[in-house]
Amino acid sequence: MNKPLVSVKNLTVTYQIGHSFVGKNTYLNAVNDASISITKGSFYGLVGESGSGKTTLGRAILKAAPISKGSVHYDDGEVSYDLSAISKIELKDYRKRAQLIFQDPYAALSPRMTVRDIIAEPLEVMGITKTREETDKRVREIAQKCRLNLEHLRRFPHAFSGGQRQRISIARALVSGPQFIVADESVAALDVSIQADVLNLLKDIQREMGLTFLFISHDLSVVAHTCDHVAVMYLGRLVETAPTSQLFNSPKHPYTKALFSAIPSLDPDHDSQAQKLEGEIPSPTDPPPGCKFHTRCPFAEGICMTEEPKLEVADGEHEVSCHRWRELFNA
Ligand code: SF4
Repeated sequence: MNKPLVSVKNLTVTYQIGHSFVGKNTYLNAVNDASISITKGSFYGLVGESGSGKTTLGRAILKAAPISKGSVHYDDGEVSYDLSAISKIELKDYRKRAQLIFQDPYAALSPRMTVRDIIAEPLEVMGITKTREETDKRVREIAQKCRLNLEHLRRFPHAFSGGQRQRISIARALVSGPQFIVADESVAALDVSIQADVLNLLKDIQREMGLTFLFISHDLSVVAHTCDHVAVMYLGRLVETAPTSQLFNSPKHPYTKALFSAIPSLDPDHDSQAQKLEGEIPSPTDPPPGCKFHTRCPFAEGICMTEEPKLEVADGEHEVSCHRWRELFNA
């Protein structure tokens, strides 16, 4: 079995969002006690609605959000870093090894830079290449891997479609030679036909370069076709994690079930009685007591309002946090 590249243990990310002179500050736990293990060479999916904490978890793994409690370890066999105690020199090296692909390919690219300069920038900022020839060679290699035409390198971003811009963003993320990529809603802003194209490119790159991906998405159907393992988040908590086929064949949390119900289907036999997700996700500044999903859960009962369920092993690598999963979904 492959070793974990990234191990997250009991991670909590807290932000102070209000300050009072009488000593009553307001805090927001964007991520609460989350533990995941991302195996080297895998495509790991993180799913949830807006406000679930998935982007913050991804950013904490990149050391772009504070680690308030718990730990994040990175080990690619060559180097090993504890991100809560990483030095400035180690962080500089970690930035080459762990990169982010942004959601919005329009906002992520400077309109004043050519595609060549956009892709080359990380090489120059991180001091990876020493000469212009070396930089150009590396930029051309990565552009071809990302299926960009070499004559595109002289143009500016406004000349490209959304899908081409996202390929430029991907090339920029890959140029430093990372082992680990966080792709945060990287296809959400694209048309459906282009989404498939970009997803196929990411999968091909992962296989060819042996990379590891954390793929963050609100769309369970996209994750189903891409990822090996999936973690579902709700209001800063992990509520279910499992290998993708296990999660899809036998979901064990009412929230995951509801997310499945929201996937459109052309199948006339699709379960029309399926559970629908109603209401809004509560505010993370004032989360409900007990199970955080109880305000929207059709199966909530007494204990759900008072006691927060722990993430427990349901079956092998399948974990779930619900007081009632055995009686509801253990058929
Ligand atoms: Fe629903 Fe209760 Fe399970 Fe929470 S613990 S998901 S409220 S049944």
